[in-house]
Amino acid sequence: MFVVPTFHLTRTISVLARFRFLLGVFWASPYTLLGLLIGGIGLCFGGRVRIVGHTIEFYDGGTKWFIQQLPHGQFTLAFTLGHTILGQSAASLEVSRKHEAVHVAQYERWGPFMLPAYFLSSTFMWLAGRRFYRDNRFEREAYDANGGEHDS
Ligand SMILES: [Zn+2]
Repeated sequence: MFVVPTFHLTRTISVLARFRFLLGVFWASPYTLLGLLIGGIGLCFGGRVRIVGHTIEFYDGGTKWFIQQLPHGQFTLAFTLGHTILGQSAASLEVSRKHEAVHVAQYERWGPFMLPAYFLSSTFMWLAGRRFYRDNRFEREAYDANGGEHDS
């Protein structure tokens, strides 16, 4: 007798979770499209692609070249745009996967406001005499999730 309502509750939660996930995918989609564009161009120049969980990872070839053109790009293992993750190599994506997963969740939460909010946070920190990148609240959350590694 009690199994029936439990079943319905579980099913309702599962449907709500799926709806929430789809909403996050839609909300983050402008950045995902940008990532698909960059990664797609990267593919034309020897780049590679794979699907890992709910993300599409681009690496090697043109994608690697693109990352290296960014400021501090030589030291960037990977970066996230919506549900795409652009990495220098397969290995650099492995190393940074936990960190980038936090950024994916942030994109699902902030949607189109993600990058403006990200840069506002960095600018705020920089104006306050803190570090532009590592004191950014989005980066702190991602580094904390990845075992809390911090610069000394
Ligand atoms: Zn990060």
